[in-house]
Amino acid sequence: MPYKRILLKLSGEALMGERQYGIDPIRIAEYAEEIKEAVGMGIEIAIVIGGGNIFRGLSGASQGMDRVQADHMGMLATVINGLALQSALEETGVQTRLQSAIQINEVAEPFIRRRAMRHLEKGRVVIFGGGTGNPYFTTDSAAVLRAIEIEADVILKGTRVDGIYSSDPEKDKTATKFDTISFKDVLTKGLKVMDTTAFTLSQENELPIVVFDMNKKGNLIKLVSGENIGTTVNI
Ligand code: UDP
Repeated sequence: MPYKRILLKLSGEALMGERQYGIDPIRIAEYAEEIKEAVGMGIEIAIVIGGGNIFRGLSGASQGMDRVQADHMGMLATVINGLALQSALEETGVQTRLQSAIQINEVAEPFIRRRAMRHLEKGRVVIFGGGTGNPYFTTDSAAVLRAIEIEADVILKGTRVDGIYSSDPEKDKTATKFDTISFKDVLTKGLKVMDTTAFTLSQENELPIVVFDMNKKGNLIKLVSGENIGTTVNI
């Protein structure tokens, strides 16, 4: 198997399923089943979850709210999603721990790197909530940061598209999908994978990113089994 320890990044929007807002219990249960299967294969899994299905700091700020205050709300939204995912995973019998970057001790452990790594070694899924704990960042940045910290082999970014295309496939019929692409080419071609802060952090630390469609059942398992799906960004 190509990876021993992975960091899975799920956006908040992914949890919405067919809904316009919030959490779709069917979608989250499907994710949980798939993650359980990967755990059963002996893969160590950490997860960073977004909050966009509940609250985004930028949209709060654009409506006149103080940006830092709005980002705090966004970070709390990721903790809510983390709790939901934890619950769905435990429902399937997977052992989990939720660690938060902002202290919220009654509901989640604080983020402690060594402890997170120990959980992973024991086969527990570790969910990182609260993003980086700082405003003006995204959960993509949190995902890259945590992946580096816990020495994950790769970051798997589960999205609604099946990889990185030369242009927007919904607007351009000639768009082609890359199987692999270098960090440099992503930048020179102006392609969008993650926000610049997150992407640069990944590039500087030579942490590969795989973009794949998490909504297609079986894709996560295919990826961790070494099948070439999605797009891999590497040095
Ligand atoms: N956020 C933040 N710092 C972080 C991570 C997230 O302030 O380190 C806030 C920010 O307001 C963001 C919101 O949390 O809009 C939700 O995260 P994100 O937009 O990354 O979620 P996703 O798009 O993955 O659902």
